[in-house]
Amino acid sequence: MRITIFGSGYVGLVTGACLADVGHDVTCIDIDADKISHLKDGKVPIHEPGLETLIRHNLEEGRLHFTTDAAEAVNFGLLQFIAVGTPPDEDGSADLQHVLKVARTIGMHMQDYKIIVDKSTVPVGTADQVRATIAETLSERGAELAFDVCSNPEFLKEGAAIEDFSKGARVVVGTDSERVKRAMRECYAPYSRLQDKLIFMDVRSAELTKYAANAMLATKISFINEIAHLAEHVGADIEQVRHGIGSDPRIGYHFIYPGCGYGGSCFPKDVKALSHTARGLGHESALLEAVEAVNHRQKGQLFNKLAQAFDHDLQGKTIALWGLAFKPNTDDMREAPSRTLMESLWDAGAKVQAYDPEASDECRRLYGQRGDLTLTRHRDEALEGADALVICTEWKAFRAVDFDVLRDALASPVLVDGRNLFDPDTVKAAGLRYYAMGRGDSV
Ligand code: NAD
Repeated sequence: MRITIFGSGYVGLVTGACLADVGHDVTCIDIDADKISHLKDGKVPIHEPGLETLIRHNLEEGRLHFTTDAAEAVNFGLLQFIAVGTPPDEDGSADLQHVLKVARTIGMHMQDYKIIVDKSTVPVGTADQVRATIAETLSERGAELAFDVCSNPEFLKEGAAIEDFSKGARVVVGTDSERVKRAMRECYAPYSRLQDKLIFMDVRSAELTKYAANAMLATKISFINEIAHLAEHVGADIEQVRHGIGSDPRIGYHFIYPGCGYGGSCFPKDVKALSHTARGLGHESALLEAVEAVNHRQKGQLFNKLAQAFDHDLQGKTIALWGLAFKPNTDDMREAPSRTLMESLWDAGAKVQAYDPEASDECRRLYGQRGDLTLTRHRDEALEGADALVICTEWKAFRAVDFDVLRDALASPVLVDGRNLFDPDTVKAAGLRYYAMGRGDSV
């Protein structure tokens, strides 16, 4: 099948590389000419395990192409995937300008029947807007061409994106057209593991499914963080509570890890967008607002714990950070808890010395050169001359720690663990003051 993908970010690149890898002929287009020129050389601008190898292999095989030429891209594929960003607008709603710009581009250049596939996360009703935009652009050209628009939301996780795309729990397709159903079945047919996981539904339900899934996951995180907050104040240990509740199959262990709040490009923006949709309908979503408020409070906890450890005087202190990315196995720092912490530390007159296995370049891009930020090349280098250590991301490389070495390296032996990686008794036995999330007397 010939497939075009608009947007060469996380979702577009993973989709393009995976579909090419199973034998489809794929063209990826992006408006960022630099990005496309790097991609043509097999250089991938994001860190996603396995992605660069997959892209290089399929470039060499001639099944994956990159371009900035809109006419070429539109006239390449029967399927036109839209995988561009839908960032939050100031009021929290999803900004659809990139999606609708792609719709105009398709309307402007198409010469025959196309199936437009919305893969970006978009509010209910967007497929109708895409359809109307293409129809309007065609009519301005005086062209009468048939096309269909369907919804195929993406559920991949950064850090495990290829596995998720190829072996996901389900593929949701929103359409009422038999022709589209046949084409989408053909598109996903090479993935034998996905064959019985294709779920067809109407377009609006598919659009809402994506938001409902992310809102549910964000709710689970805020729920456990709310209980962690309570645990801290009543002298209970959230990790024991987590075991206690997770063993109930109705609850389960997935996604109930307490921490320093969710970040990334999806949960924060999708919860906001769904709240905005509810508000627009005259229905305040008390639950979604609370999920967001709890997350906001949780992101501030790392700083609060440090402030408490240093009697609310962080002026002139140097704080080591392990982990900048919003989660392991990615270099993505969008809405990462590390950013909330760093910005609060700088406001309080402290310096940051940070290490992340993958996100240093992204951090430099976001914050530039500044005297109160040092990015180190090794984990333990970040400890040199530091007063305290904060763990913001649960990278594997942070799990094995010699606490005696850590205690000796830090001027004040303070460890704030935003991911509950360690056994409190072991850490305390080494003479460190241990501040974890929701773990009783460690506060
Ligand atoms: P991204 O910001 O990484 O990439 C978007 C790309 O689209 C950029 O390279 C940008 O230059 C390009 N673009 C913008 N306008 C364009 C245009 N008119 N033509 C061609 N390219 C254009 O975004 P992402 O993280 O890949 O997310 C894309 C969509 O998928 C969003 O709606 C997001 O919510 C959704 N999504 C993301 C994830 C994730 O984990 N990142 C998971 C599931 C769904």
